[in-house]
Amino acid sequence: QTATPTGDTIFGKILRKEIPCNFIYEDDQCVAFHDINAQAPVHFLVIPRKPIPQLSRAEDGDETLLGHLMMVARKVAKQEGLDRGFRLVINDGQHGAQSVYHLHLHVLGGRQMQWPPG
Ligand code: 5GP
Repeated sequence: QTATPTGDTIFGKILRKEIPCNFIYEDDQCVAFHDINAQAPVHFLVIPRKPIPQLSRAEDGDETLLGHLMMVARKVAKQEGLDRGFRLVINDGQHGAQSVYHLHLHVLGGRQMQWPPG
């Protein structure tokens, strides 16, 4: 899925509540919800309300927001019981296998991860 000229994506629809989605966390800057195609026993996404299409297109001034997303990822990981650790992933662009062009952090846990990834 690519960003439309308006920058809208399925995550834009989720943020506007045009698609039902159970938020496991929300504040004025971001929301978190479980991935529809979970790749681990716990797999949720943290997305900014601001429609930044991808990390490589973040702008000067987004530093505080980007840091906030990581702090929320860590808080929700704890809330989800990931006390044995977790993996944080940001897919960027074609080679990063990004499919939704609205920035999101994947948080995966609840099983042993392997490194390096495929
Ligand atoms: P990407 O490949 O862009 O890093 O990840 C996009 C993620 O969004 C995928 O893991 C996919 O399963 C998830 N996803 C796509 N559409 C929806 C949706 O409508 N609801 C939820 N909860 N997750 C979605």
